[in-house]
Amino acid sequence: MTNADAQELAKFSELAHKWWDPESEFRPLHQINPLRLEWIDELAALRGKTVLDVGCGGGILAEAMARRAGQVTGIDLAAKPLGVARLHALEAGVANLDYREIATEALAAERPGTFDVVTCMEMLEHVPDPAAVVQACATLAKPGGWVFFSTLNRNPKSFLFAIIGAEYVLRLLPKGTHEYARFIRPSELARWAREAGLTLQGSRGMEYNPLTRRYSLSGNTSVNYLVACRKPA
Ligand code: SAH
Repeated sequence: MTNADAQELAKFSELAHKWWDPESEFRPLHQINPLRLEWIDELAALRGKTVLDVGCGGGILAEAMARRAGQVTGIDLAAKPLGVARLHALEAGVANLDYREIATEALAAERPGTFDVVTCMEMLEHVPDPAAVVQACATLAKPGGWVFFSTLNRNPKSFLFAIIGAEYVLRLLPKGTHEYARFIRPSELARWAREAGLTLQGSRGMEYNPLTRRYSLSGNTSVNYLVACRKPA
């Protein structure tokens, strides 16, 4: 059995043709992309590195990392976003980038200890067993490698901001994009990372200002947040 929810994958496939439209449902991903890219690059120094992007979707982060890194692989289980990602990379002339439709756990069994950097962004909250994905990401990293996650915190404020605010009031995301029960507290993510043998290196919050319509990184992890981990050398 694959650790995936068919309905979740279908949601992303349905919208796949809009993935690179910065004014579409994917606007938030386009907006946060430079912020997360800089943070990852600052910590893990992408230049020349072998990178895996888990749950890459249409490739917004994977392609941006490929422009700085050695070789990037993007994996996802939704076929249409992967098709969009491949086409976009081709059109953009980014050649050090390949995409595969494969489960994280399956790739971990096939290529353990392969990647200098593993990123898994905005994906864990769509998966039935996120701890297993964290474990697989840890397995895929080389000793001394970096593993990054981002997801949504679970508390009354994140319910208000990430679901009511983003889906119903500001309409940044389609209704039903996120399910509150699947949100992940930083303490839970930290525990799964530790159980996978990773050591926590830092975290950042991502805050949205509805007046300027901009995101920024901050110390406030109450809604959207990023976590950086390392696999011991
Ligand atoms: N990581 C990308 C896309 C986030 S959208 C970014 O931040 O820009 C969430 C992605 O996770 C979608 O592309 C969806 O197809 C993928 N996804 C959901 N469940 C998955 C699973 N079990 N395995 C792999 N990918 C999955």
